[in-house]
Amino acid sequence: MGSRDSFSPQADSIPVTELKGVGAKMAERLGRLDISTVQDLLFHLPIRYQNRTRMVALGELQPGMVVSVQGEVQHTEIKFGRRRMLLSMISDGTGHLVLRFFHFGTAHKGTLASGASVRCFGEVREGVNSLEMIHPEFHLLEQKNKNTSPAEQYLTPVYRVSEGVYQPALRLLVEQARNYLRKGALIDWLPEQVRQQFDLLPLDKALACIHKPPADASLELLDERRHPAQRRLAFEELLAHHLSLRKLRSAMQHHSAPVLKDTGLLTGQFLAQLPFSITSAQQRVWNEIQQDLRCAFPMQRLVQGDVGSGKTIVAVLAALQAVEAGFQAAIMAPTELLAEQHFTNFRHWLAPLGIEVDWLSGQLKAAEKKAMLAALSGGQAHLAVGTHALFQEQVMFHRLGLVVIDEQHRFGVHQRLALREKGSSDGSYPHQLIMTATPIPRTLAMTAYADLDVSVIDELPPGRTPVSTIALPDSRREQVIERVGAACREGRQAYWVCTLIEESEALAAQAAEDSAALLRETLPNLSVGLVHGRMKPQQRAPVMKAFKAGEIDLLVATTVIEVGVDVPNASLMIIENPERLGLAQLHQLRGRVGRGSRESSCVLMYHGSLSEAAHQRLAVLRESGDGFVIARKDLELRGPGDVLGTRQTGMLQFRVADLQQDQDLLPEVANAALLLLEQYPQQVTPLIERWIGERSQYGGV
Ligand code: ADP
Ligand code: MG
Repeated sequence: MGSRDSFSPQADSIPVTELKGVGAKMAERLGRLDISTVQDLLFHLPIRYQNRTRMVALGELQPGMVVSVQGEVQHTEIKFGRRRMLLSMISDGTGHLVLRFFHFGTAHKGTLASGASVRCFGEVREGVNSLEMIHPEFHLLEQKNKNTSPAEQYLTPVYRVSEGVYQPALRLLVEQARNYLRKGALIDWLPEQVRQQFDLLPLDKALACIHKPPADASLELLDERRHPAQRRLAFEELLAHHLSLRKLRSAMQHHSAPVLKDTGLLTGQFLAQLPFSITSAQQRVWNEIQQDLRCAFPMQRLVQGDVGSGKTIVAVLAALQAVEAGFQAAIMAPTELLAEQHFTNFRHWLAPLGIEVDWLSGQLKAAEKKAMLAALSGGQAHLAVGTHALFQEQVMFHRLGLVVIDEQHRFGVHQRLALREKGSSDGSYPHQLIMTATPIPRTLAMTAYADLDVSVIDELPPGRTPVSTIALPDSRREQVIERVGAACREGRQAYWVCTLIEESEALAAQAAEDSAALLRETLPNLSVGLVHGRMKPQQRAPVMKAFKAGEIDLLVATTVIEVGVDVPNASLMIIENPERLGLAQLHQLRGRVGRGSRESSCVLMYHGSLSEAAHQRLAVLRESGDGFVIARKDLELRGPGDVLGTRQTGMLQFRVADLQQDQDLLPEVANAALLLLEQYPQQVTPLIERWIGERSQYGGV
């Protein structure tokens, strides 16, 4: 166990061309399914199964059944109707059935000659005069064993196929690959002890069973992917991911980082000039960061804090520690709007302390940009704020000590890891602080962020009032507009948010422009502003500034304002078409209000009539203001890809495992990882390679 003991070749080094029936052409087709070795074939798992283990008498057939049947061909004919088709009638003495084919060759009719015994599998339908199967899978039985040939002994796997590689061929190939299992061609990297402790099947048994489940295996369990054989593989895959992130983390700990010795001078001045004192949660998280920054290896810390919990202050404190120690800090935000806001705030707070804050955006004029770049590389600028423009090649830092990534969920894991490289020199890396308002349930965080230390700001600043939330159909738009008008006349400020139709910033911008026009017309006494993602930062900035200053009553916006935007006097938010967004995203949006001491409200104005499920989702928001509760529900209702914002980024894409469904495995996976690292360290790398391969490098760290 665990070592390449026998001399049998290993499945990952046996090309598929070794198998019978695989020539160059077939190998190329298999390549399109990402199958090039016997191991790939073994891990090409069925997507579902068919039960052909029981033969049903023709007399017992009912429409809708998906079954195996057998009978003798009575007659076969080609019919010329609107479509040419081949019809074959079979019977078994208890009843009969018509087989109907629209695609057939000339030989087909002869094959299904009268008297032939045929076995078919397919779905039974109500035909014109009798029950029928359309395009059943079928094969002929030899006359001599037509009465003895047994039904299938195993459930039949159905695989993902591609052009030129169909089910029967694939099944035969997998069958051959299974034979290699018996020869020990696939080492089980999970030691006996681990398997026993976590109640896992041996790998070869699990794979053998998944490809060929015995007739008595539960089809229901298999289809829901809860069969022990499938769970064994899901466990192993999650374990491999978990271990790869852990390895990444320990690899970082072997790198060096600047020791950021703090004098407390700048941070003290900064805190003294704030109009409030920091919460004990902010203080605790800052202490944790302070400790990390004093270490000679790079900090990799994730700060989670609900919207409005005051993460920015913590980022400033960390940045000041870097500056005190004679280094620079870079703060990266996911949108221009948020970067601008940080820039404005930072400059406001830090200029009095004699700190120069630099600003890098994709939209800077060439001359401005040149000056900014020079200030960064020359070391005159202490702090750089910007979007991912910060990490373009031309950007050189003088002495970068800390990188802060705000609203991390908007970036992919690849970007996050690639950023570690930026600012590294001679094996020394900047410290990294990652901030997110997406509260990830603990078990999920263990897997998604196994490479990070996690701090939680679990307290909101005092004096916040909960946002009361209601859902209304947009047939009541007029009333809602009236209400907005009344609120603004009382001196309140409001957001009117037009949500994105997936991916289409252009359409959303259009919707926002239309809404703004309508609102200006209906509420002529109000000052209505507009911001959306298609405006240039130079166009948006004055609008945001005016809204912050209270000169604009009503701000119409797309979801560009979702992250970070902070205007405490705004206390009313209307969200159009909330049903288009996930709960976590709605919670983020709603977090723009309820920042001052005034009673705040949020109106979810949905379109048309909502499905039961959509009602339930919106109800979660009405009932809870706690980001963690909402995230958990969101996870239940939508799945982790959405919660983590990783749909497009390719992070956490599993072959077998499903974070949603296999959540309950995660704590055990974490324990198994520890056991493996401690007692079987030599198994770790091959395990990661099997499941992740080169991808384990993610950003190439
Ligand atoms: P988020 O965690 O969502 O990024 P911010 O950092 O934008 O939150 O903070 C939200 C608002 O709360 C800001 O106006 C900020 O100045 C204010 N704030 C932060 N910390 C405190 C505190 N300890 N007491 C009072 N207000 C605070
Ligand atoms: Mg923020």
